[in-house]
Amino acid sequence: MKDWDCAKCGKNICVPDDYHLEYCCSGHMCGCMGYPINPVYCDACAMAIYGNVNMEEAVSNAQEVVDSYDEEEVDDYLFDDLFWKEM
Ligand SMILES: [Zn+2]
Ligand SMILES: [Zn+2]
Repeated sequence: MKDWDCAKCGKNICVPDDYHLEYCCSGHMCGCMGYPINPVYCDACAMAIYGNVNMEEAVSNAQEVVDSYDEEEVDDYLFDDLFWKEM
């Protein structure tokens, strides 16, 4: 392992000895903007960057669960809940 800097916040991190930044090109007329194509991040920045993707996935999965409920079943459930509270 060798010392490296987080590509986002510059915090000192460790990377494999054979790691080196790879660039696509100078970024002229290219979507890479001249940035490295394999940047490394510290744990906090990786969470901030990749964690958002997981959060979106979690939200869309949760929405699928909500969509899969039959509305009638939900109504029955709410009714039962009120019924038991009155008892
Ligand atoms: Zn960082
Ligand atoms: Zn490029």
